[in-house]
Amino acid sequence: MSKVVLVTGGARGIGLGIVHAFAAAGHQVMIGDLGAGASDWNYDLSDANDLDKALARESSVGEVDACELNVTKLESCERAVAATLERFGRLDVLVNNAGIVDTGPISEFEEEDWDRIFAVNTKGIFLMSKAALEALKASGQGAIVNTASIAGKQGNANMSAYCGSKFAAIGITQSLALELAPHNITVNALCPGIVGTAMWLEHLIPSNTTELSEKERNFEDSVNSMIPLGRPQTTEDMGQAALYLATARNVSGIALTVAGGMTMN
Ligand code: NAD
Repeated sequence: MSKVVLVTGGARGIGLGIVHAFAAAGHQVMIGDLGAGASDWNYDLSDANDLDKALARESSVGEVDACELNVTKLESCERAVAATLERFGRLDVLVNNAGIVDTGPISEFEEEDWDRIFAVNTKGIFLMSKAALEALKASGQGAIVNTASIAGKQGNANMSAYCGSKFAAIGITQSLALELAPHNITVNALCPGIVGTAMWLEHLIPSNTTELSEKERNFEDSVNSMIPLGRPQTTEDMGQAALYLATARNVSGIALTVAGGMTMN
């Protein structure tokens, strides 16, 4: 049976890969992202143009709509759930995918950047799940998929904020899996390895070029040797994994790593 899915941070990157996988499988999808509400970060987040482009692209694949969403604001989360119910009549799957990254030694890391990383990557899961809870209960077959990371399983130097926020995402996943099991709601985490999205191309692998193809080449040259399978993961890989986690009715509380063998737990 087709499901109604809300994907946060769905306008590009891994979120868009997840939107595409669900839409192509015949599910109805609401894309939530910052849109016109995008604000400055150390690399550009999705804006209204990205949201429009994602909607146009995925509307040719399946039944898809889009709404502006800031996962750090409870009212915005509630509006996104209301928009989904109004458009598709119910909500079965919430994919908490919105996330941001910043790196740097703790001595130089700004408190406001730390707070914003936790506000999006961690508190965003709490606020969105809270806003969606009644609709997921009413579904009778609800599912939550949280995009965590391999950075939620292993610490990295100069990444305490990001790793901390992703370890927390896995802890929230396990706790909600137990708490919501009586409502037949499954809760799982997806842990991507290395995917060539804005996080890597615009921030983690600094590059002097503005040329996308050259950035992608630099990215692959830098990461391939770190990955046993010798290639980065793709947004399609993440879409398939999210689709599995959202539809496997006897899988709950796991954190599924999709990292080409780089992390094995
Ligand atoms: P991305 O920057 O392309 O996508 C993140 C999306 O989240 C953007 O569209 C952005 O606008 C949106 N977003 C940011 N703040 C938001 C907010 N407050 N409200 C709503 N939307 C917001 O990066 P990505 O790599 O596609 O990241 C998606 C998720 O995958 C993140 O949670 C990230 O931490 C995680 N992840 C990525 C990788 C990787 O290698 N790219 C690895 C592990 C985990």
